[in-house]
Amino acid sequence: MFLDRDGVLNRNVLDPTTGEYGAPLAAKDFELAPGALAALLALRRAGFDLFLVSNQPNYAKGKSSLEELAAIHLRLEEELARTGIEFAAFYYCRHHPQGVVSGYSGACECRKPSPYFLLQARDSFALEMAECWMVGDRATDIECGRAAGVRTIRVADDHPSVKLRAAGEIRAEFEARDLAHATEIILGVAASTSASVSDSLPVVAILAGGLATRLGALAASLPKSLLPVGGEPFIAHQLRGLAQQGFRNAVVCAGHLGTMIEDFVGDGSAFGCRVRYSFDGDRPLGTGGALRRALPLLGDGFLVLYGDSYLREPFWPVWRSFADSGKAALMTVFRNEDRWGRSNVEFSHGEVLRYDKTARTPAMRHIDYGLGCIRGEALAAWAAEGERFDLADFYRDLLERGELAGFEVSGRFYEIGSPEGLAETDALLGGGLPGKRGDAG
Ligand SMILES: [Mg+2]
Ligand SMILES: [Zn+2]
Repeated sequence: MFLDRDGVLNRNVLDPTTGEYGAPLAAKDFELAPGALAALLALRRAGFDLFLVSNQPNYAKGKSSLEELAAIHLRLEEELARTGIEFAAFYYCRHHPQGVVSGYSGACECRKPSPYFLLQARDSFALEMAECWMVGDRATDIECGRAAGVRTIRVADDHPSVKLRAAGEIRAEFEARDLAHATEIILGVAASTSASVSDSLPVVAILAGGLATRLGALAASLPKSLLPVGGEPFIAHQLRGLAQQGFRNAVVCAGHLGTMIEDFVGDGSAFGCRVRYSFDGDRPLGTGGALRRALPLLGDGFLVLYGDSYLREPFWPVWRSFADSGKAALMTVFRNEDRWGRSNVEFSHGEVLRYDKTARTPAMRHIDYGLGCIRGEALAAWAAEGERFDLADFYRDLLERGELAGFEVSGRFYEIGSPEGLAETDALLGGGLPGKRGDAG
C-alpha cells in the first residue's frame, strides 16, 4: 500500500504566501486527517505493508529548514507509534526542479509522478505490483501509481474551496472521500480478488437489452452497450471493471441488436471474463423477463448490473451483505437528492421503505443504483419464463413482502442512458486511462 502523505494521512495546510493548500510548513501545523489512524490499522490488520511516498520540496524552495521537515515527520511517527502502526518504509523526495537551494534543486529521478520509489519498494520488498495500491490526493500521485502498475485511488481534496483538478488529467480507478473510504474500497476489492473468494463469486447478469430511447438517432443502429465511451464500446469498460474485482463470469441479457454485442465481446476473454448470452427472442421481455429467461445460466444467486451503468464501488461488500440478509433480492441505493436523475427510493436506517419510479414522494432522497442481487428461485417462482415484466415490479412486490434487502453505496454512479450522462461518462473514461484516451475527454 503506497500512501501519499499530505491531504491523505494529514490535512493540507494553507500557505499564506501562495494562497495554496499543501504540506504543513511547521510541526505545530501537522494535523492527522480524521479516521486516518483507524484506516491504517485496518490495512495493517488485513496484511498490507504500508509505504509512504511523499514529495517534500519546501526545503529546496527555501520555505522550510531540514530540521522542520524532520520535526514534521517525527510528529507523524509519534502518532503512528501511539497506535502501534508500522510502516515498511518512508520515501521522501526533498528535491524540486525550480528550487533555490543547491544540492536539492533541479531534476531528480524520485519526485512524483516518477514511479521511482514504488519500483524501489517493489525490488526491496518483492512486491506484486498488481496487488498494490497508490492512494493520493493529486493527479501526480495517480500518474505515479499508474506508471508503476499499481491500482489507484484518488482522495477528494480536503479543502473543497481549492480546485486542484485540471481538465484532461489522469484518472484514478476509484475515487474516495478520504483515506477511511479508500480503505473500505481496497478491503472490498482485496476480498473479492483473493483466490479463495474469486472462485466462489456469483455470475453477473448485464441487462443489455434496453432500447436507448433517450439517445434517439445515436442509438438507433447500435445497442447501448456498444456506444463508444472513452474511445471504445461501453460494455468493454463494464467487463474489465468486473474482472478487476474478481467477478469473471458474466451473462449478457441482450435484446435489441444483441448479436452485435456478441460479435464484439465474443467469449469475453479479451476483457478477462467468461461471457455467455441470453437473448430475448422475437419480442422484448423487459428487464425482469430477460433475467427470468437467463436463469439457467445465472445460478442460485447472482448480481444484476444495468447495461447503461458505470459503477466505481466494490461489488463484493454488496454481495456479502445480500448473502447475510437471507432475503430474496437486494437493491443498492445511492443518496442522490435528485442530482443525477430523479430520486425514487425512500431509504432509512439500512432499509428500503418505498420504491417507485413513477409516483414520487417527498421522502425519496435515494435512487436505485444499477446494481442488485437476486436469488434465482425467488425470481423463478415470481414469473413464468417468457413473460414480459420490469425488474422494478419484482422488487416492489418483494418489498411489500419484506423480502427486499437494501444496501447504500456511498460513491456516485455514472450512466450512459441520457446525452448528459453519456458525455460525462465519456469524459470520465476517456480522461487519461493509458492508451484509451477518448475524443471527447
Ligand atoms: Mg498530497
Ligand atoms: Zn527527488
